[in-house]
Amino acid sequence: MSADTATRSPFVLALGHVRRVDRISPSFVRITFGGEDFAEFGDLGDVFDVRIKIVFPPASGVLPPLDRQSEDWWGAYLAVAEDERGSMRTYSVRELRVVGEETEVVVDFVLHLEPGLTGPASLWASAAAVGDQVFVVGPRRGRAVRSGIEYAPGAARSVLLAGDETAAPAIARILEDAPRELRGTAFIEVPTTSDILSIDAPAGVEVTWLPRAGGQAHGSLLIPAVLAHLGDADADAEVDVRDLEGDELLWETPDYSGLGEEITVADAPTDRYFWIAGESGVVTTLRRHLVKDLGVDRAQVAFMGYWRRGVAMRG
Ligand SMILES: Cc1cc2nc3c(=O)[nH]c(=O)nc-3n(C[C@H](O)[C@H](O)[C@H](O)COP(=O)(O)OP(=O)(O)OC[C@H]3O[C@@H](n4cnc5c(N)ncnc54)[C@H](O)[C@@H]3O)c2cc1C
Repeated sequence: MSADTATRSPFVLALGHVRRVDRISPSFVRITFGGEDFAEFGDLGDVFDVRIKIVFPPASGVLPPLDRQSEDWWGAYLAVAEDERGSMRTYSVRELRVVGEETEVVVDFVLHLEPGLTGPASLWASAAAVGDQVFVVGPRRGRAVRSGIEYAPGAARSVLLAGDETAAPAIARILEDAPRELRGTAFIEVPTTSDILSIDAPAGVEVTWLPRAGGQAHGSLLIPAVLAHLGDADADAEVDVRDLEGDELLWETPDYSGLGEEITVADAPTDRYFWIAGESGVVTTLRRHLVKDLGVDRAQVAFMGYWRRGVAMRG
């Protein structure tokens, strides 16, 4: 790490230029961003479920003029009038790679475009073209190892990964970055059979795609599949999806509790690690079953609401 890197902010604010747009399935568009600001972006090879923030341009189409070298770009961003600031949303990195001299960041955007159920990120992604620009915020390379990464199986001998389409890019990246001897199961619920994508998973991890047919609700396949896999006797019962009060996303990991629960360090390494992400009500429902009915210890699980039905995210 250079002395300069060590003293700089652990986050990079990068101007991302769209280099490629690939409509990889009915519900996913894969967008490749490049640009000189990515030279210090992210830790190659250890991406897992790292989260990044993307700022999409406001109605004018013009991003606010931020000094990307400033250590206080966040303060400068907040000082911009709201209607000129654009919209910030959270995404996963499907791939981080160096091509020639340039670092490229690849993001798989879910297209949810139904009137009343769409938002600025999805709309932007649906119309993105080569040359378009966004701001991308992510960890500085070599500066804050594992910053923004929640996947932490420790010495667990097997993993269970479960999520909906918004979690599919993170699950794919986790499985492609994981040691080849990893064992476990992944359940990924997606809108249609044509949204089943290729993942280079370790041979010992069974990946099951759950395509919703004919407008089934989010979680209607994922919840029973996970519960049946864990031997829950209620797996076949009708699923009662209930979220927390308020507008927040559920965020409960072994070392952070959005609910304010006490964090205790596990005495012994856990045998099995669970990583569950997707619509907040669905994840909350799974949490209720895993923690209350199946007695799974919170130190074994990351439960993460990635979006929330009826709620626009605020970054
Ligand atoms: C750590 C993390 C990683 C994420 N990674 C990804 C990723 O790699 N790819 C990805 O596509 N998303 C990802 N998401 C989810 C993404 O941030 C949200 O879906 C976000 O709400 C999209 O912003 P928007 O502007 O399109 O919609 P918003 O303005 O936030 O919401 C508008 C409306 O759309 C609804 N909505 C939002 N998302 C969906 C959806 N997927 N399906 C149906 N309705 C929806 C909301 O309930 C709301 O009613 C991630 C979220 C987190 C927290």
